[in-house]
Amino acid sequence: MLRRLLWPTIFALILISAAIGYFHLPRQYNPFAPLHVADPLTPVTAFKLRRLRDDPEYCTAALTTAPLRSVPRPDAGNAECPLPDVVQVQSTAIPLSSSFLASCPLAVSYALWESHVLQPLAQQHFTQDVRRVTHLGSYACRNVRGGTRQSEHASANAIDISAIALGNGRSISVEKHWTDDGAAGAFLRALHRRSCDIFIMALGPAYDAAHHNHFHFGMGGRFGLCR
Ligand SMILES: [Zn+2]
Repeated sequence: MLRRLLWPTIFALILISAAIGYFHLPRQYNPFAPLHVADPLTPVTAFKLRRLRDDPEYCTAALTTAPLRSVPRPDAGNAECPLPDVVQVQSTAIPLSSSFLASCPLAVSYALWESHVLQPLAQQHFTQDVRRVTHLGSYACRNVRGGTRQSEHASANAIDISAIALGNGRSISVEKHWTDDGAAGAFLRALHRRSCDIFIMALGPAYDAAHHNHFHFGMGGRFGLCR
């Protein structure tokens, strides 16, 4: 009798220990745990970022963990480019050139980008904090340039970043410094590369001439593009 129970018991013990280990995973390694903006980035973060788009409640919960001020904007959008669920991001951890309209996934990923990519890279390259981020806008009811498909901007799912100002007053501009041989160029190219860990679309001057003066960071595409 006992012998017959041996293997089922071992199997059950394996399952139980796996479940205990699983539920004790740190949140950033547990794909089913909520996304907290302060958690370190891990390979599981990409999975959680994609879930932001597929699960509005999951995204709303993640947004409450972001160090930003936002207000719902049910009035935004129009018949051609409806915006069923967007917020006006009024301020974030780093001062912005102006507020911007954002889908929930864009607002959450922007907050993650600021604290886990932008600020650490500025420290690494210049030992400076970022004092201000200049953007060229997020919502625009239009198609992709030269195409018939709607742009990510038409759903407030993308923001265009043009310049970063450091604590010492230095301004780093995508247009002026992308090909720079010094620290500014190295910083911008690292910033673009690392931004691909957060945003589904991360396009810069290397993509095409339309992006010569900004980074396009988007959460709207089905398929990622990092160029
Ligand atoms: Zn753009």
